Amino acid sequence: MHNLKPAPSETRLTVSAPDGEYIVVLGHALLERLGELAGKEGLGRKVVVATDTNVAPLYADVVLSSLANAGFEPSLALMQAGEAHKNSDSVNVFINHFLSAGVDRSGWIIALGGGVVGDTAGFAAAIYMRGLPLVQVPTTLLAMADSSIGGKVGVDHPNGKNLLGLFKQPRLVIADLDTLATLPAEQLACGMAEIIKAGIIDDPPLFALIEECDLSSLDYRRALYNAILVKRRIVEQDPYEKGVRAYLNLGHTFGHAFEKCTWYNRLHGLAVAQGTVVAFRLAEKLGLCHMAERARLEHMLERWALPTRWGAPDLAYPEAIEQVWSAMSTDKKRQDGQLRFVLPEVIGKVRIVNDIPEATVKSVLAELQ
Ligand code: NAD
Repeated sequence: MHNLKPAPSETRLTVSAPDGEYIVVLGHALLERLGELAGKEGLGRKVVVATDTNVAPLYADVVLSSLANAGFEPSLALMQAGEAHKNSDSVNVFINHFLSAGVDRSGWIIALGGGVVGDTAGFAAAIYMRGLPLVQVPTTLLAMADSSIGGKVGVDHPNGKNLLGLFKQPRLVIADLDTLATLPAEQLACGMAEIIKAGIIDDPPLFALIEECDLSSLDYRRALYNAILVKRRIVEQDPYEKGVRAYLNLGHTFGHAFEKCTWYNRLHGLAVAQGTVVAFRLAEKLGLCHMAERARLEHMLERWALPTRWGAPDLAYPEAIEQVWSAMSTDKKRQDGQLRFVLPEVIGKVRIVNDIPEATVKSVLAELQ
């Protein structure tokens, strides 16, 4: 059992990765200091700020001037915002920009945005000229808590979520909490879904903290700090997902299928929340988890305006169950053709379960549609 850690005003956490260490800086007014912070990393002069069409009007200017003031030569590359654009076309948009800006192996890339930009620009940085240094600058709660750390990058394919990807550890992660001020409430709730997941996997006091608060009263820095500690513990133990890292996929086997069946129009965090409830009900049905745990989760999700059923608005017809099952069958989390589920035992402990009968999974989906 862990105690909830107080978060200092500017936090620096070191994450160990197979090819070295990197620092996660969490604090306020950091975009203005991006050039100075990156300047300590011994990076080349030419840098591309890769971002999306929503984030650029809000934060590109401050980032570009901070870099220019620190002596870098920055340029801006834009992808369309949204999961529907997390694909190889957007990777090519970034790579074409790298080429036209004359970026060579001494250049480096900043991914400025949410998880979609982090994954897409990170993938482009990883494959361009066999890899350029990548600095993750997450601007959503979800990206700060989860996607900017741990080195997974990649894009979706029509056949499945994140089917193209690799491991690319960042050189530095800079999470400026001030950027959360412009994030719509629904996107904050999406980030909470991944923070709640961290609590369920390995941090009951974090879960309890979120349970006591709502959108306006939560100390985001404290919640993020503790969620990042969970992610760090897991990715340091298992950087390439050979074992415990799979725990981070709690709710994702179902969630990815909901996203795919809605052509990636359903927000990732909402799909994760829905998938997590289904995982709790499945665990309950298999006798692994007491129903009181699911009741606790549902109560918490409702408090955060997160869904506890997965059908609405666009998967509320009977055939959707079969479609979701079939989407799960192409999920890359399968092993040797078997679907693997991460299921809770109690808040704070999960396990991996293989070989669950199709009929059991479908009946749980039907109950919670
Ligand atoms: P997102 O990147 O689509 O961002 C959500 C929306 O908010 C977008 O429209 C974006 O333009 C906008 N936005 C971003 N920052 C903003 C700000 N500060 N103010 C206003 N608007 C802002 O989505 P997300 O929820 O950040 O990330 C979801 C993605 O992350 C999914 O593709 C998921 O698969 C991926 N993910 C990856 C990992 C990993 O380990 N690599 C982990 C978890 C999730």
